Amino acid sequence: MHVPTLIEKKRDGGELTAAEIKEIVHDFTRGDLPEYQMSALAMAIFFRGMTEAETQHLTDAMMRSGRILQYPKDAPPRIDKHSTGGVGDKVSLVLAPLLACDEAWVPMISGRGLGITGGTLDKLESIPGFNVHLDEARALKQLEGIGLFMIGQTADICPADKKLYALRDVTGTVPSQALIVASIMSKKLAENLDRLVLDVKFGRGAFMKTKAEAEELAAAMTSVGERMGVKMSHLLSAMDEPLGRAVGNALEVAECVEILQGEGPGDLIKLILDLAVKVSKTPRAELAARLSDGRAWKKFIALVYAQDGDATTLEKLLKLHKAPVITPFPAKKSGAVKQMDAELIGRASVLLGGGRQKASDNIDFAVGFSAIKKIGEKVERNEPLLMIHARDESSVEAILPLLKKAVALR
Ligand code: URA
Repeated sequence: MHVPTLIEKKRDGGELTAAEIKEIVHDFTRGDLPEYQMSALAMAIFFRGMTEAETQHLTDAMMRSGRILQYPKDAPPRIDKHSTGGVGDKVSLVLAPLLACDEAWVPMISGRGLGITGGTLDKLESIPGFNVHLDEARALKQLEGIGLFMIGQTADICPADKKLYALRDVTGTVPSQALIVASIMSKKLAENLDRLVLDVKFGRGAFMKTKAEAEELAAAMTSVGERMGVKMSHLLSAMDEPLGRAVGNALEVAECVEILQGEGPGDLIKLILDLAVKVSKTPRAELAARLSDGRAWKKFIALVYAQDGDATTLEKLLKLHKAPVITPFPAKKSGAVKQMDAELIGRASVLLGGGRQKASDNIDFAVGFSAIKKIGEKVERNEPLLMIHARDESSVEAILPLLKKAVALR
């Protein structure tokens, strides 16, 4: 393989073969293909795109760069969900235990928050003791016991993606559709799934700003998943305002506890059920009943215990992670909420310390926003539009300009 020739081929709009892609990914993962060549190739892919076949070969090669989870022959069907990420998106924490009440396994490998989108692992880690670093043997045993695990990517799963994502991050090649599809799908396919539902977000607080872009990404991920034998389904969901009424790690877990105890905000419950019916064989009404009668809650408690968490803290998490400053952000006039900009709220949450500005930053579990008004809701003058949870007064001051821009009333 002469790498410069392959880079030139892609640069000039040619199509790489399965064998070429396989060798590139193999050599790059082993450190035999230098980063400057991989960077040049990623940039060529960014500008030229990839055909469906190329994207599938790249996904396949990246998935095979590490271990693919293996299950016993008589194992139940494996199902999972992937979200492209949004502000206040805590769906996984409720959906995974809900789906695991079926005769199905939910082997969920999730990520951390970066930028304005929160991460499932960070939220779970706000539960004292919760361990997201299970090894494969323990994770598989847990599936046999309770039908689900929620962990982070291990060193053995998709090492090619780990290396390539780090390179893309510093070479301006993250927003390439082919590279995004291969990155996401290689990790999900390494879970060896039967069914996968995608929640592709669009709007101000999402990666994809328009519905058309989201549709295109969904179609590309679906094509790769189907070519590789997974039953795929998807939803396109708007991300103009935060999902639910809470943003911030412990605050979001507390909101999930509310839903698992039969309460919680309607938009979030609707999205959870909309996604659940796409991958579950159980009727919607029965899925909803599992949320209201405590079956999904029991499953979540089992999950927390199985992964070393202290489930006795779940109902007092907000006392445990109580921000020193909790203060309202009042409405300047009476009216109805016209705008609650997810992107700006997400940025404000990161500034409070609830997210990372760089990968090595620590997360402050206590900070964020609660009681966020939804678009269309009426407020009186001076009524809180949301509650700010902050480490100190100066961080409240720092985010006020963002909040003022984020909210509009009519
Ligand atoms: N999430 C991923 O895992 N990879 C991407 O490339 C983009 C989002």
